[in-house]
Amino acid sequence: MSKNLTKRAEDYSKWYNELVVKADLAENSGVRGCMVIKPYGYAIWEKMQAELDRMFKETGHSNAYFPLFVPKSMFEAEEKNAEGFAKECAVVTHYRLKNDEENKGKLIVDPNAKLDEELVVRPTSEAIIWSTYKNWIQSYRDLPLLINQWANVVRWEMRTRLFLRTAEFLWQEGHTAHATKSEAIQETEQMMNVYADFVENFMAIPVIKGVKTANERFAGAEETYCIEALMQDGKALQAGTSHFLGQNFAKAFDVKFANNEGKQEYVWGTSWGVSTRLMGALVMTHSDDNGLVLPPNLAPIQVVIVPIYKSEEELAAISEAANTLTAALRKLRISVKFDNRTTQKPGFKFAEWELKGVPVRVAIGPKDLENGTFEIARRDTLTKEVVSKEGIELYIDSLLTQIQESMYSRAFEYRDTHITKVENFEEFKEVLATKGGFVAAHWDGTSETEEKIKELTKATIRCIPLDQVKEDGKCVLTGAKSSGRVLFAKAY
Ligand code: AMP
Repeated sequence: MSKNLTKRAEDYSKWYNELVVKADLAENSGVRGCMVIKPYGYAIWEKMQAELDRMFKETGHSNAYFPLFVPKSMFEAEEKNAEGFAKECAVVTHYRLKNDEENKGKLIVDPNAKLDEELVVRPTSEAIIWSTYKNWIQSYRDLPLLINQWANVVRWEMRTRLFLRTAEFLWQEGHTAHATKSEAIQETEQMMNVYADFVENFMAIPVIKGVKTANERFAGAEETYCIEALMQDGKALQAGTSHFLGQNFAKAFDVKFANNEGKQEYVWGTSWGVSTRLMGALVMTHSDDNGLVLPPNLAPIQVVIVPIYKSEEELAAISEAANTLTAALRKLRISVKFDNRTTQKPGFKFAEWELKGVPVRVAIGPKDLENGTFEIARRDTLTKEVVSKEGIELYIDSLLTQIQESMYSRAFEYRDTHITKVENFEEFKEVLATKGGFVAAHWDGTSETEEKIKELTKATIRCIPLDQVKEDGKCVLTGAKSSGRVLFAKAY
């Protein structure tokens, strides 16, 4: 099965597309740019959701739900946001179809059912949410308002890829309102840190925290914080964003509160989101030429048990041992599947679970029953060992922790060796062309230079890292003064 997978070194992009489909994560649909997330892929997304949701609640947020449609006039209210998203908006103009008199069996849009006002399918929900907050917020006692929504949004992307960039995608979007600027900035930073914590500790993907340049900032935000990850092909991926909105949306939607002196003030806002793009990050960070490699914290099945048998009797004896092991592992809250299908051979099952990235495989044969041992295979390193069955559940438990940590370390090492300092534009181009990854370079701080560099090399400024060191230097392109390095990369 895995033999059919294109190798990463041959064609990384093809490898990715094949893997997503073959590992049963998602597939293209009959709708341009929109994907079907399959049960196995959705189970991983649900694990991400569950953990993120727990973290959001732990930091004081509550979930709510707002409409999919936004009346155009409402959408227009915050001008920069509207302008930024205008090119990607799907718009509903009619509310009815009717039979086509001239073409039997076909339907046409009923011209008599034209909406008085067009509805924008939300590309992001600030407009509808802030128009609601106007009614929810009157006094400082109503603040902070800490809301999250799990939803789908639509952005009419021209070039789409499963998970990484789709026209419709699933995400969560937090929208908070605060009495003071500093509190809103604190919230923005807190949520960036929550994302970084989740992506590093659950997805085993190291990230760089930073702020976006004006060019890459969210439309309508004063500041965009982000976490950036590096994929195995040396391209960067924006894994999450957290925006400080200033008072922009409060002013656009007239959201004021009476402060504790009774004076009216505009509210301060934030918004933050991660999407199903994280599934793409997961695949592109860890997987190999045999298929998906899942970190134990996100694997829907953490351990698969495969019986090796010739006769019914052998299967019966192995099943008993497998059931005992399953029960012991479940007690430790480890998710286990005993693959006792009689329709497939062990070799097929091995390849299938390898393709699907199950972190630990236990094989049990008649010899193992005799010897009181099991064969344990690690998906991340593809190594095998024979282990005594005494206390094996504890052994597997600690092995899962070890796999989680070692996957992170491996990804961290790759990322770390792919941040390259360059001093001039020749080196800049050379590194991008040969090694890829992040290029740490001086930049003169202007949008023009940033755009020129993008035009010449396709690399964009991924972020100004939060841990940027003050250092005098000269812009790689213009030679103008710079006080610190920013991170450039080609990105998804
Ligand atoms: P934004 O609202 O633009 O800051 O995006 C919020 C999150 O959604 C970020 O983590 C983006 O990387 C992600 N995202 C943006 N566009 C897409 C898309 N077309 N498909 C999947 N994820 C996306």
